Amino acid sequence: MKRPGALREVYDRLLARFGPQRWWPAETRFEVMVGAVLTQATAWGNVEKAIARLKSAGALSPEGIRRLPVDELAHLVYPSGYYNAKARKLKALAAYVGEAYGDDIDVMGRSDTLALREEMLGIHGIGEETADDILLYALGKPVFVIDAYTKRIFHRLGLAPERGPYFEYSALFTDNLPHDAEMFGEYHALIVRLGVEYCKKTPACAGCCLLDICPAGRSQAVD
Ligand code: SF4
Repeated sequence: MKRPGALREVYDRLLARFGPQRWWPAETRFEVMVGAVLTQATAWGNVEKAIARLKSAGALSPEGIRRLPVDELAHLVYPSGYYNAKARKLKALAAYVGEAYGDDIDVMGRSDTLALREEMLGIHGIGEETADDILLYALGKPVFVIDAYTKRIFHRLGLAPERGPYFEYSALFTDNLPHDAEMFGEYHALIVRLGVEYCKKTPACAGCCLLDICPAGRSQAVD
């Protein structure tokens, strides 16, 4: 199967299997941005606890994060792990949103996607995955988020190499699918769902909805 058809087929099967995931769970777009930083190297349940603490302290805004001393901010985001580092990253993000966009996320969202991405990659603690999380889920830009689940699953499906630069994986999707932010957001969320429930380090292929089109899964079924 050619890549565009295969990528669409995988999406359709995941959507039929799991249903819409409706990411990103948040009340505001700035909350999405904060969550994108806090979710680095931790489970989402820990992020929810940290977000709840920020909300209780009235600190879930760019101004609120800038106002707090870094040690108090670290205390609030403690449940998300790496709390000192994440507090510094949130400070840098809040400073950027204020300096570049006057805390106006609507203005930020109207900026050019590539320019925004370049700007964010210059912020302390924002890497490619986090920048793309923000672009896609906070700002509605049609970028494809690549994470470890994506690499693992699409390598096992025979559609991508095991290792390679980030942009090659994102180009696999953006070059072969319509640039639809809603679909890209669903697709990434569905990939994470599959990675958590089936395509783990040791995959549970028996119940996977992709088994009959997955070379790695089929070879395991034969073993
Ligand atoms: S069949 Fe197995 S290896 Fe293939 S995508 Fe599903 S869980 Fe992963």
